[in-house]
Parts: sequence; C-alpha cells; structure tokens
Amino acid sequence: RLLYTPHIALRDLWKTSGHLDFYAENMFPPMELEERSYQLKPMNCPFHVMIYKDSVHSYRELPIRYWEFGTVYRYEKKWELGGLTRVRGFTQDDAHIVCTPEQIKDEISSTVDFVMDVLKTFGFNDVKIFISLSDPKSNKYVGDKSMWQLAEKTIQEVLDEKWIAYEKEEWEAAFYWPKIDFKIKDSLGRLWQCSTVQFDFNLPERFNMTYVDKTGEEKQPLMVHRAIFGSFERFIWILIEHFAGTF
Ligand code: ZN
Repeated sequence: RLLYTPHIALRDLWKTSGHLDFYAENMFPPMELEERSYQLKPMNCPFHVMIYKDSVHSYRELPIRYWEFGTVYRYEKKWELGGLTRVRGFTQDDAHIVCTPEQIKDEISSTVDFVMDVLKTFGFNDVKIFISLSDPKSNKYVGDKSMWQLAEKTIQEVLDEKWIAYEKEEWEAAFYWPKIDFKIKDSLGRLWQCSTVQFDFNLPERFNMTYVDKTGEEKQPLMVHRAIFGSFERFIWILIEHFAGTF
C-alpha cells in the first residue's frame, strides 16, 4: 500500500513513539500553532503505525506492507553536514511490514530477494551482509524474549537457505533489534551501508498494535522496517562515486 504521510505531527505522537526520549537531539525544535505543539518528522514509522491502527485487522488481512517515499528531517550539527551524505532533510524509500509470526519467514525471504535484485540492477554485485543479534548474556532488551528468538532464527535461516554469506555482530545495547544490514562495495573497494531490514518490538508495544487471530484473540503483530536505497540522496552520491560520474 503506497502512502504519503504528513511532514509534521503533534508532539504527542513523538511522545507515544518514544522519539522524544531517545531521538530528541536529532529532531528540530517544536512549532507552536494555535496552542498546540508540532514537530517535524525524523522518521515515517509512527504515521504508518497510525494508519494501521485506524481499523481493526484480522489475521486474514496480513501481511500488510506499507511503503512511502518519505522525506524526513533530522537536525545535524552544522559541522557534521557534508555533501549528499549528511543532510538535514532527505527522502527514504521506507516500508513497514506488519505480519503474523507464521508469515515472518516468507516476508523476510522475499524482502532479501528484493534488496539483492535492486542492488544488482545498479551494478553492485559485491554486497556484504551483517546481521545484528542480541548478546545472549544480557537481559536489557526491549520486547518479548520469544519474539527476539524468532526474529534471530528467521534471519539466519533465510540467509542460510539462500547460501548468502554474512557476518554476525552481537549487540549489548538495550536499544537494538535483530536486523540485516546490506553494505555495498564501490569501485574503490569502500563499503557503504544502504539497505536494511530491521525488526521492531518497540512501536507495536507503544502503540498497542493488534490483530485478531484465528481463535478471535487479539495478538500483537510483528513489524519490520525495510529500506532498500536508504536515503535517495546518499544512494545517488554512492552511484556518482562508484561510476566516477560516468553513468
Ligand atoms: Zn520505520
């Protein structure tokens, strides 16, 4: 489902999503309007969640895949800005997949195929894959442990079944979810992070996303963020470098 979501939202939305706790320093200051406070969006995710929540969903409707070419605004310090790579507004090819645990493997599998297809089309045949997993010794992760285990198992099974090589990175940070990062190698051998497929156990919880399962019970769906180009501006910069401007 193609979406086009607003560029600003009431500050309350960013409170619910948690962005004001963990992302505030990357956000532009609030705008006061008719005694209400609004803020530019640093990410598209909460809007997609709100659209999902606008109606009741049965397991039969899932998976639902929302996508958008969403322009986001992030405050970068003046001295951190650079070329097309560090900018204060950029457009992402942003998508969110909402599905049941039974569907997650097919969703991750087709997403990985999609990413590899697009990167190959642009001439990037050397793609390095990194997966982030939790540190099994740590207990400080957001979300249900069984969800984490399902996510980590799914990621590894999908890549193993496709014979795709990857490196594992174990994260200790509390604010990390299982994810696959695709880094492309340019003509000079430099690695650039662009595509990502990332689980999210935070927003479904914070926004109380649900679906009705076969038995009529309300369950929390799985949510996965995925971007292929990442930021269009940055991807174009990588293309310019890779082809040395000769398209
Ligand atoms: Zn997202």
